[in-house]
Amino acid sequence: MPFLFDFARWAPWVVLAFSALVLPVLLFIPAPYGRHLRAGWGPTMPAKLGWFVMELPSFALFGALLFTLNPWRVDPSVLLLGALWLLHYGQRTLVFPLLMRGDGKRKPVLTVVMAIVFNLLNASGNALQLEPRGFDLRFFLGVAIFLAGFGINLWADAKLRNLRKPGDSGYQVPRGGLYELVSCPNYFGELLEWTGFALAAWTLPALAFAVFTFANLFPRALAHHRWYRATFADYPASRRAVLPFVA
Ligand code: NDP
Repeated sequence: MPFLFDFARWAPWVVLAFSALVLPVLLFIPAPYGRHLRAGWGPTMPAKLGWFVMELPSFALFGALLFTLNPWRVDPSVLLLGALWLLHYGQRTLVFPLLMRGDGKRKPVLTVVMAIVFNLLNASGNALQLEPRGFDLRFFLGVAIFLAGFGINLWADAKLRNLRKPGDSGYQVPRGGLYELVSCPNYFGELLEWTGFALAAWTLPALAFAVFTFANLFPRALAHHRWYRATFADYPASRRAVLPFVA
């Protein structure tokens, strides 16, 4: 299926173009979901279903393309990178939505459709362009950064989840651990994950995804941080938004 490989070759360039577009836009217009949900973005759907549907291509399509069409699919380094990706997206697609708290929360269908389009590009580019890497220092450093980020992301999302009792949908000030340094350690973990993945995979699609993750999550972290400071009078002044000691 040569057209799929052509599509995958173009995909990272489109992802980079998206990144250049979304970074400035999101600095002024926070993506309308979660605490930034507001009227004017069209029909909405249940948030849990939205998360499942929009992340599914990153899990199922990535796995299908990697294990059927990637010519290097039996190489140990490709298998390890594929396993890391599927570990992240298995959690994000199948576990995260089930555990989410905030009964009755909804998400604009538009955000789900945009995420699906993005994930189709990103998953196919990454699945088809993974290729063998030596088990050298750069590879292991990248894998270690990914795993550290994955651990931080899981810990930080669990911490937020536990601020709500089942059935609640309000917000509290998260405290403890990395929350003393930044408002959004879950995004910090996510940034580490895809930076580490890009380092280990050393492909254009992996680099493009790391760039996109920054373009998407850095403005969102700034918006969360502003929201926390405006909402809680006693919000700790020393916290940064997402990068400890930096921003
Ligand atoms: P948020 O931090 O906005 O929210 C995560 C969950 O915790 C939501 O259910 C949210 O509820 C709840 N929550 C957040 N803050 C509080 C609080 N102070 N008190 C109580 N509950 C709270 O993350 P996102 O929803 O934006 O993202 C979820 C995951 O997806 C993260 O791990 C993120 O890294 C990842 N992600 C990755 C992207 C990428 O580009 N790679 C893009 C977007 C997300 P509610 O929804 O009701 O606000």
